[in-house]
Amino acid sequence: MKNAIEHYPYEKPSLDFMQTYLTDAKEQQIQNSCTLQHAWAKVQQPLEQEKQRLYIEEIKQLLKERNAVMVAHYYVEPELQDLALETGGMVGDSLEMAKFCKSHPAETLLVAGVRFMGETAKILSPHKTVLMPDLDATCSLDLGCPINEFSKFCDDHPERTVVVYANTSAEVKARADWIVTSSIAIEIVEYLHAQGQKIIWGPDRHLGSYIQAQTGADMLLWQGSCIVHNEFKSIELEHLKQKHSDALVLVHPESPAEVVAHADVIGSTSKLLKAVTQYDNQTFIVATDLGILHEMQKQAPHKQFIAAPTAGNGATCKSCAFCPWMAMNGLEGCLNALKYQHNCIELDSDLIIEAEKPILKMLDFSEKYQKFNQENKHALNLGAQSFKVWLTEQQHGAKF
Ligand code: SF4
Repeated sequence: MKNAIEHYPYEKPSLDFMQTYLTDAKEQQIQNSCTLQHAWAKVQQPLEQEKQRLYIEEIKQLLKERNAVMVAHYYVEPELQDLALETGGMVGDSLEMAKFCKSHPAETLLVAGVRFMGETAKILSPHKTVLMPDLDATCSLDLGCPINEFSKFCDDHPERTVVVYANTSAEVKARADWIVTSSIAIEIVEYLHAQGQKIIWGPDRHLGSYIQAQTGADMLLWQGSCIVHNEFKSIELEHLKQKHSDALVLVHPESPAEVVAHADVIGSTSKLLKAVTQYDNQTFIVATDLGILHEMQKQAPHKQFIAAPTAGNGATCKSCAFCPWMAMNGLEGCLNALKYQHNCIELDSDLIIEAEKPILKMLDFSEKYQKFNQENKHALNLGAQSFKVWLTEQQHGAKF
């Protein structure tokens, strides 16, 4: 199946490099264990087949014994995605993960993804135990939006509604009026814009610019970016499109505007995933983390997927769309978290109360919007006109 995935070999740092780096980090007592360099050093290496089999068996057993369920993001390694599904858990984007974690009756949630996903699960289910394979797995958007600076930015513009992307710390969420994920960001901003509200947006500047262009909302943007999506290259993508003129180009809007301009489909990981079965094209060029290709290939095994370029001619690695923090998640981490109940997300109870409010607003909005879509028998999002009618109804009726 994997043969149909065409991309240039990705050169992960060698084991030697990692060992040297880890030793240096220990000697220098580096405190911030979430840096990009540290993440590269902790990227999981493939396990021997027999070891992998044993770990999987033990994890399955522990999930049962601990009344636990496993939730994985589309960007983590394929074996973790498959294990989550095989054991009655789920694989999804961050909005789907949040909804699943909140509604599932399991006492323990094992979240394979990055830290803000585990924190969101804890905020929505404070009475549950939330475990992660590695608590150091973070996100450049989260790192690039420290609470003190962001809070000052908000304080300087008190007349604006603070809309924050889910890829942020619990503290930043608690400072926000609304949380959004890329699946529902445009609709929520459009709703706020229709009410005449001006917005502070954080932290991803590319996603913010894209939403601003789509909605016409007055938005002040924090200048963060995702280290993976920021790397896609427009000129190289154009060359690739010329070479594969029949390919449909799928782009996540955390990418720069000039890359988004080449897209046939723009959207969250779930929307990009839907596109591979929704369209008849046989070839897709994909501009998001390469982890998504596993599920795309499963859903459309006879189609071809080409990773969008992240570098120009002469580079040794031309499609490095690979998040090192996501790649810190591995079977061994899952096993140890379950076995020893460590890597447990702990958050202050007052923080949970404050951070929960804007997340619940998003979930409530998303539920109402989805219901309206279903009642109107739209398989996908509504057309612009119907959406405006719905927005007007919300302004007169529902309160978020
Ligand atoms: S892919 Fe980008 S947005 Fe996603 S976790 Fe990694 S750095 Fe963050």
